[in-house]
Amino acid sequence: MNTISIYNTLINDKDVFIPIDPNHIKMYVCGPTVYNYAHVGNARPVVVFDTLYRLLKHDYAKVTYARNITDIDDKIIEASLETGEDISVITEKYTRIYEEDMGALNAELPDIKPKATEYVGEMIALISDLVSKGHAYESDGHVLFQVSTMDDYGELSGKDVKDLIAGARVNVADYKREGADFVLWKPSTPDQPGWDSPWGRGRPGWHTECSAMIKKELGETIDIHGGGQDLIFPHHENEIAQSKCSHDGANLANYWMHNGYLTVNGEKMSKSLGNFITVHELLEEYPNRGEAIRLALLTSHYKQPADFSREAITQAEKQLCRWYKIVRNSEETKPAKAVLEALRDDLNTPKAIMELNQLAKDSKNAGELKASAKLLGLLFGNAKNWDSTHVLKAGAGKFELTGHDADLLVRRKEAKVNKNWAKADEIRDDFDSRGLKLVDNPDGTTSVEKK
Ligand SMILES: [Zn+2]
Repeated sequence: MNTISIYNTLINDKDVFIPIDPNHIKMYVCGPTVYNYAHVGNARPVVVFDTLYRLLKHDYAKVTYARNITDIDDKIIEASLETGEDISVITEKYTRIYEEDMGALNAELPDIKPKATEYVGEMIALISDLVSKGHAYESDGHVLFQVSTMDDYGELSGKDVKDLIAGARVNVADYKREGADFVLWKPSTPDQPGWDSPWGRGRPGWHTECSAMIKKELGETIDIHGGGQDLIFPHHENEIAQSKCSHDGANLANYWMHNGYLTVNGEKMSKSLGNFITVHELLEEYPNRGEAIRLALLTSHYKQPADFSREAITQAEKQLCRWYKIVRNSEETKPAKAVLEALRDDLNTPKAIMELNQLAKDSKNAGELKASAKLLGLLFGNAKNWDSTHVLKAGAGKFELTGHDADLLVRRKEAKVNKNWAKADEIRDDFDSRGLKLVDNPDGTTSVEKK
């Protein structure tokens, strides 16, 4: 068996992946809170863990991948108050958009997509168990997890409970025993969504759902738990606390994988900076180019901070056009050893992409290139849509022509100069038949637009 190595946040080191059951790998990744469009930073874990999922499926007989949908959250309640739309209308709409947008990046749907609202019974059972074991307490309609009752709280983030308690002394909500305690359940007002519970009508805290869903769908201990680096604390730390304390110290996951932050043009993404790019708008700007967005996201190693730009999409598009040209008439064979080795080495996608470029140097490798690219979720599409001549110019919705088409445009210009109108029209019709419209500009240049 070929081994996979994974950087495990739990031990802050790269480790050989040893599955609990090699016949069935179980992985869980924290999914979206569905109340608006996902931004490109949210797409990074989706693409990263989709690539891992593909590798695991290649290497192991069975893989179950679960990614939850948070469809109850204060941000959703706020969005509902703002728009006047019912909560279920909002969550269903944005779940659908999320799955479509991530699908356009060639991310497969996970095997299980648990929705928080369908697991409230399991969450109440988990919270009751934690209360009965002395790790949680009820206070003023809330139920809180008392972190000081757990010996190794902070094992994932490396945070010290004493520091957390000391640091949180200012402005501690008066229903908390200690500042670091976190909410498992909170009361709902009559106009807020809520469920009946032993502690009155209320709703779960955010961390509770993942622990409850993992236990119900995958079991007490899973192989791999993933998410963005920003989730390490408090979210994943609290998932561990809930599950471990409920399961007599059993690990929630043996391997914790976290992807790094994504900046846009060198800056942190934020609404105030105006560089908040959603996947949805990128897909509108670059129709049918989700695969280029995916490749752009995979050019950096998942653990490293990465920068995203429109230039990166254009670069990725050019690369894909080259690869598609080579695999156009080939059947996939087997993935190349070098690509597999790169991916098995803590999902080293930059190395894998380099190896794909090596393969692309010789058309004899076309079948191998196709099979290898498939592991990265690439070269799935119709090669016809990736004619190297149709490289979209960033943002403009226009085309920058290269290769044969660029030559055609030069020839058409010559024909016009020579008043050979028949020839000029023939070239125009050629573009036209491929869905491309030539526009003669007043300054004598010609631009190409998609019809
Ligand atoms: Zn989670």
